[in-house]
Amino acid sequence: MNFFEDEQDWKWLFKNGIDWKTILPLYYQSYPTEEGFEKPEDVISFMEEILNSTGAWTGGAVSQRAEKLDQNGAGQVVDGRTIPGPELSALYKEAAELQVIGLPIPPEFGGLGIPTTILMFLLAQLSRACLSQSTQLAFFTSIAEMVHRFCDHETAQRIIPKIIAGELSGSMNLTEPGCGSDLGMIKTTAIKREDGKYLLNGSKIFITNGGGGVGFVLARIKGAAEGLAGISMFLCEQDIPEKDGPNYIVAKNEHKMGMHGSFTTEVVYENSVASLVGVEGEGFKYMLHLMNEARIAVGFQALGTIEGAISYAVKYANERQQFGKPIAELPLMKRNLEDFTTERDALRALLTDTVSHFDIFQKLDLKKKKTNDLSKEEQVLFKEASLWVRKRTPLVKYYACEAATNLSQRAIQVLGGYGFMHEYPVERFHRDSFGPLLYEGTSQIQALMALKDIIKYAMKDPKRFFSNVFIKHPGINLLGGNSAYEKKLKNSQYRFKKKMIGLIIKTLKPETSNNLFNAKAWATEENIDKLMIHAETLCQGLSYLETLRVLSEHAQKDSSRSELFNRYYTLITPRLEAIYTDWEVRT
Ligand SMILES: Cc1cc2nc3c(=O)[nH]c(=O)nc-3n(C[C@H](O)[C@H](O)[C@H](O)COP(=O)(O)OP(=O)(O)OC[C@H]3O[C@@H](n4cnc5c(N)ncnc54)[C@H](O)[C@@H]3O)c2cc1C
Repeated sequence: MNFFEDEQDWKWLFKNGIDWKTILPLYYQSYPTEEGFEKPEDVISFMEEILNSTGAWTGGAVSQRAEKLDQNGAGQVVDGRTIPGPELSALYKEAAELQVIGLPIPPEFGGLGIPTTILMFLLAQLSRACLSQSTQLAFFTSIAEMVHRFCDHETAQRIIPKIIAGELSGSMNLTEPGCGSDLGMIKTTAIKREDGKYLLNGSKIFITNGGGGVGFVLARIKGAAEGLAGISMFLCEQDIPEKDGPNYIVAKNEHKMGMHGSFTTEVVYENSVASLVGVEGEGFKYMLHLMNEARIAVGFQALGTIEGAISYAVKYANERQQFGKPIAELPLMKRNLEDFTTERDALRALLTDTVSHFDIFQKLDLKKKKTNDLSKEEQVLFKEASLWVRKRTPLVKYYACEAATNLSQRAIQVLGGYGFMHEYPVERFHRDSFGPLLYEGTSQIQALMALKDIIKYAMKDPKRFFSNVFIKHPGINLLGGNSAYEKKLKNSQYRFKKKMIGLIIKTLKPETSNNLFNAKAWATEENIDKLMIHAETLCQGLSYLETLRVLSEHAQKDSSRSELFNRYYTLITPRLEAIYTDWEVRT
């Protein structure tokens, strides 16, 4: 099967769900381009061709080796290094031959220089076949992107072509035994040498692809402040001219419940030579920035997992006969399958819309960093895209990853007893789905990020925040000729906002009424704690409404999308009502 060509929905989204009109001029300022494109349509056809060929590859060879990789594991740890097994080695070779490593990296370093959106679509395709392979390959391109963004030209020229050739990859090394979500507790130290290099000491755990060769490491320079402000970022390579053996040691590869085909390692630094990246004390800020992309990428991975599990379940349900007919035709099963496919298709639309904003944000952000020269028009675009990315990132990470675990569990149930057996791939999808739930910030951390933004917005000007809901009643627009989709969307948004404001008032309202419009009086620690217990339900509600917003826009563009809008509206309306009940009962 071809995961792109045979999927009408992906093709529709590729053509209609991405703002190519805004994105392409950011990549190609004039035509013909250096790459030989005569017009924007040529770029679009080229990207479509890439997705067709990666769709065939992921639906073929990548899918075929998934089970074996799951059984055999990623490879070995020998003398402080990771040695990929035959399955991963084959993956790297094929990826390099297909030139899919470094899709968004500029051609001067050997990449194709095409929009990041295509990389994200590829991640979904890979994850539909096998989450482990998707993860391992992600640590080629993402490391090349980091080197391009943060390192000097000489380092970039030395490292990136090797990554694109499939010979080198890397890792992001944050987590330690004593700190995961709370990175302010990082203990790994860095001491400056006379030649300006640093020596790292400490250990990192759960590091994906820790033996790839190039590590971006968070550490604290001796004497730096406690907490996040004292953290810096370092580039640490495993092979350096001044050492015969490895510059850092991979101590072990973890035994996990899933993602067996991905290395999850402990990395030990003992006077490991490293270079400071950027400015001292800015390490956490750099990582946060990178996490935007990583979290959206993990959302695409989760989507791929859902696609793999649900497409298998639907196929099975159409073939499996019980009570004289395919189980897909039994009323309860029919309803369930419709719900599963609705949520899958809706998430695909949400993620596509999000990466469209992200592509604009990312390209302009890089331009700003490299040239500090954005035109007025670009500044406006950048501001708008930044707001979307900030709002959507925790939502897509939270929603897609939670849905991947829920829906892959439901897929097992569709297969009955067979779903529990290793011969069928759905149990692998479910075991693997827990990885994305945890890495790049757990679901709870995403929910808290989303809540923090709401509180920040509300506290900036409580009077305006609270009065908005009454001024913006959707009834005001009812005579304005809005489409049926927009009316449903606006009513749902209005009801959510009203309920959310009720919740905020109930939890944060100061005791005395003369403090009512004093932002500080609202944000006491005790009251914020009371609101925090609702972070996940708030995040769920926001995710549903953002998805509905995207589906409404799509339905207005093309009436063939109206069915998906209506099905999703039916799916989430009772879920939203359950959230409101929860808020009433638990405050
Ligand atoms: C397969 C896999 C790959 C990974 N790859 C990498 C990698 O490449 N690089 C890397 O640096 N790390 C990696 N990690 C580590 C991962 O990022 C951490 O496991 C994760 O950030 C959580 O940290 P922790 O395990 O220490 O859990 P903790 O931070 O101890 O959290 C435990 C529980 O407490 C919850 N919690 C924490 N804070 C709050 C709060 N304020 N409010 C409510 N609940 C809270 C969490 O949601 C979680 O449920 C990987 C992990 C896995 C499983």
